[in-house]
Amino acid sequence: MSPRPERSALVVAVDGPSGSGKSSTARSVADRLGLAYLDTGAMYRAMTWALLQRGTELDDPEAIARDAADVVIASGTDPMAPTIEVDGQDVSGPIRGADVTDNVSLVAAVPRVRELLVKRQRDTVDAALGGIVVEGRDIGSAVVPDAPVKVYLVADPAARAARRAAELGDIDATATEADLARRDEIDSTRAASPLAKAPDAVEIDGTHLTLEQVVDAIVALVEDVTQADPR
Ligand code: C5P
Repeated sequence: MSPRPERSALVVAVDGPSGSGKSSTARSVADRLGLAYLDTGAMYRAMTWALLQRGTELDDPEAIARDAADVVIASGTDPMAPTIEVDGQDVSGPIRGADVTDNVSLVAAVPRVRELLVKRQRDTVDAALGGIVVEGRDIGSAVVPDAPVKVYLVADPAARAARRAAELGDIDATATEADLARRDEIDSTRAASPLAKAPDAVEIDGTHLTLEQVVDAIVALVEDVTQADPR
């Protein structure tokens, strides 16, 4: 494989566990700074939706690896109107369904799936010449390890569950907390690029902060970097 060229555009990596507020935060940062935006979780969800549609046995990693190779996923990177398509079909609604949420961590743990999607993620980053905010679990640690700004966003489990339950219009925050804990466990213990804070990432605990405050903190980090190394 040829070495990756040195990057000239700004990349802001936003990682953290489920429900920590990454999506709203990353989209607002991108909008505020005029950058593109990529939701890598939506790509793993789209892959899971596609495999469910094909009837792939999701307890069989080899079947997942085989069928994943034929799935074509496309992401639109406008932070105010991000899109996600599978084989040309808009799947932004279906990928938020319970069947996808229940299975996505199993699919995301398969190394071949990560290889396919990480390549697509890097291509999207390289194409975003004006800069991009990328959110996920392994962006700062594995996908774009040379990103000049890396944030690891956390929040208390109860705050995360309350946020996720409100998003889903679901009042059972206890069940939501158990679901988040189950996904965190699979995401952080898998062998292939697990959920992890990169050593040089700045951790932000959003439990007692508003969205605006978290966004301000990240914009300040970006300004520090761009003032130190204006390109
Ligand atoms: O962010 P979201 O909750 O939509 O992500 C869904 C799932 O996709 C995560 O629980 C995780 O299993 C997987 N994922 C991942 N690596 C990423 C982004 C998401 O494994 N970079």
